[in-house]
Formats: sequence, structure tokens, C-alpha cells
Amino acid sequence: MIKIQKQMIVENEHLYGPGKRLLLYLKGCSIHCEGCINPHLWSFEGGTSISENEILEICRIEKLEGLTIHGGEPLDQANELIKVVELLKENSFTVILFTGYIKKELNNVQLKVWNKSDLVVAGRFENEKRNVNLQFRGSTNQRVYKHSGPYKNYKLTDGYTTAIITIYDDGNMDINGFLTEDVSKLIVSN
Ligand code: SF4
Repeated sequence: MIKIQKQMIVENEHLYGPGKRLLLYLKGCSIHCEGCINPHLWSFEGGTSISENEILEICRIEKLEGLTIHGGEPLDQANELIKVVELLKENSFTVILFTGYIKKELNNVQLKVWNKSDLVVAGRFENEKRNVNLQFRGSTNQRVYKHSGPYKNYKLTDGYTTAIITIYDDGNMDINGFLTEDVSKLIVSN
């Protein structure tokens, strides 16, 4: 079981990857990048749990292309996340992983999750390197690794800005995409 904050079915290639996908926001992040637009996801408290079989079932029923795993920090739950990634790959669904870690920081299980994912977007968000016109990345130090299968030759479409802000009934908010520093300060500080 992994602990998540939210799950959504999404279709926005620029932000989440090709096709119709299950997007999971995992709960908790131990990295705490300065300028992170989702600090409410840092706490490991609360959230709900979802199993690898439930995730597979959603992908099958909704006829999805695959899973996109966002943070919080997904690799902080690598011991459970590896079961999800392996099961989806065995069943021909694609996996896209967003992580704040870089490869040399990973332990063996985290590395397994990284290697089995079809596409990995990696690295801290660095405020001074912010660039709102990159696909998948919020700062220029972040890297995209295209490992296998259908995304091996994936062409990134940098050059335009997209942001989706979702505000929930309980007052919580998810921001996905890329905000200028001014807009980010305005939203995150409120
Ligand atoms: S940007 Fe990602 S890795 Fe960095 S603090 Fe925010 S959730 Fe964690």
C-alpha cells in the first residue's frame, strides 16, 4: 500500500505525459525544496492508502495509458512503490515518475523504481533556476530520463507554460505546472 494525498484521471501531455493517465500525488516529502509550490504535501501524516491491485484495476477499467507518480516525494515510499511499478509494467501500462532526488542519492529499492519507470523527471526544484517554459520541469537543473518502451524517443515540447490549480472543498490546493515567482509567492503564501 502506498500513501497518497489525491488521485485523478488526467489528460494533459505537457504536464503529466502521453495519453489518459492515473495521476497519484503521494503523501510526504523529506526533501523540502525552497520555493516548492506544494508544501502542504510535505507532511507524512494523513492521506489515504491505495494498493497496487487497486491501481491496476483503475488503469484497466478506465483504459488508461499508464500511471504518473507525483509528490510529495514518491521515492520516500520506494519499498511499497516498487510493487506498484512492477505490477503495472507486468500488465503493459507505462509509468512516469517525478522525483526530487538525483540518481546518485538513491538506495537499491529507489533505484529499482527509477530503472523500471519508462520516463523519470528528476532533481530538486531550484528557485534560482526556475523556468516556466519547460515540459515536466520547473527549473533548468531538473533532468528527464527516457528509459524504455514507448517513451524512449519521446520528444520534449519545451517553450510554453501550463499550470493547473485545483482547490478542494477542504481548502487544500494542488498546483501542477509552472508558475512565475510572483504568482507562486502570491498563491503559496496565502
Ligand atoms: S518540489 Fe517536489 S521534491 Fe521538492 S519539496 Fe516540493 S514536493 Fe518535495
